[in-house]
Amino acid sequence: MSTYKTQAIILRENDYINADRLFYVYTQNYGKVILMVKGGKKIQSKLTPHLQNFSIVNLLIAKGKTFDRLASSQILHYYQDIKNNFEKIAIAYNFLELVDKSTHVYHPDEKIFNLLVENLEALNDNRLDIIQLKNLSNFFTIRFLNILGYSLQLYNCLYCKKKIESNENYFYPRKGSIACSKCLPTKSDRIIKISDDAIKVLRMVILENPQKLIKIKIDSKLSIELEKLITEFTKFHLDSQIKSKEFIAQTINP
Ligand SMILES: [Zn+2]
Repeated sequence: MSTYKTQAIILRENDYINADRLFYVYTQNYGKVILMVKGGKKIQSKLTPHLQNFSIVNLLIAKGKTFDRLASSQILHYYQDIKNNFEKIAIAYNFLELVDKSTHVYHPDEKIFNLLVENLEALNDNRLDIIQLKNLSNFFTIRFLNILGYSLQLYNCLYCKKKIESNENYFYPRKGSIACSKCLPTKSDRIIKISDDAIKVLRMVILENPQKLIKIKIDSKLSIELEKLITEFTKFHLDSQIKSKEFIAQTINP
């Protein structure tokens, strides 16, 4: 029987027939994989104790006809601080749900795996305040959409193509682009005024890793503006049925 080894992050799990269980995992080398775990439902299963949420695991997987099967697993890293914090659990589930709902099995993309690892790592930091947590969640969405090919256009005006100057600019959520005040069209397309600081932060979100991003000083007013811009942009590109987003809204109220 042929086998393969890979690092992975558990996205979700559900019951299968008999005592078996299915685990949806995002692997470093093979993209999303559905794994069948024999007897995974049983409390005394030898295989499932290492398949914990919010951890990075090393897996040995055996190729199967319908589903691949888990042969062995080992925890490489466990994010304890996420597990201990209700707000962080909500955000981590949102990361996992976004990836699960927007990817297909066996389409490897190491950037997505690395994005999950970096963000779980950043989220595990025990010094984060509630604004930083919200920002981390919103920045993840922008970075993830960027990997999927939905990138923000933040440097030139959508219409006249001139470099964006500070002062009065507008964000077009449907296009993820900015227009200068001179080009503000009369069309009924939804636009939102965007501050210079919000433009600066969004530019950094694309370039920097989450550990650096959470160190940027962002007050609650700017954080609320960013959340609004990102939520409006996201509506056009992601499944509206992202349940964990509502869960975050109910859990975190800065
Ligand atoms: Zn313009």
